[in-house]
Amino acid sequence: METALKNSDGASCIFCKIIKKEIPTEFILEEDDVLAFDDINPKAPVHILVIPKKHIESVSDLDSENAGVAERLILGAKKIAEGKKLSGYKLVFNVGQEGGQIISHIHLHLLGGWPSSPGKLEV
Ligand code: 5GP
Ligand code: ZN
Repeated sequence: METALKNSDGASCIFCKIIKKEIPTEFILEEDDVLAFDDINPKAPVHILVIPKKHIESVSDLDSENAGVAERLILGAKKIAEGKKLSGYKLVFNVGQEGGQIISHIHLHLLGGWPSSPGKLEV
């Protein structure tokens, strides 16, 4: 199961290809170490993926040395949400195959833009 997610060098990683512009993608946010773009299969009116430019597979690969990546993803998502004037939104990390993670390059889902609040936590 876990080996299906393994992609330690990023060579065949679809998000690394987006970072290297091998897959043309419009960036919503580009910072020194963070990129954001629309999810290809949106699950909400606004569904944006915020990723680090460095290939890290998952939240499970974060430790005290590199956990700043998570902070930068969250702050990137917040900046986008403010720019889009979202009054509320969800931030989701899927972790591991059983957690619904398909792409093994850490990414934060920013979901929002519903006409009215879903009003409940749909996890
Ligand atoms: P995960 O399930 O790994 O947390 O989420 C991966 C997300 O990446 C999915 O929501 C999927 O729709 C999105 N995705 C997969 N391939 C591509 C792609 O080539 N371009 C973009 N923009 N999104 C993608
Ligand atoms: Zn990658």
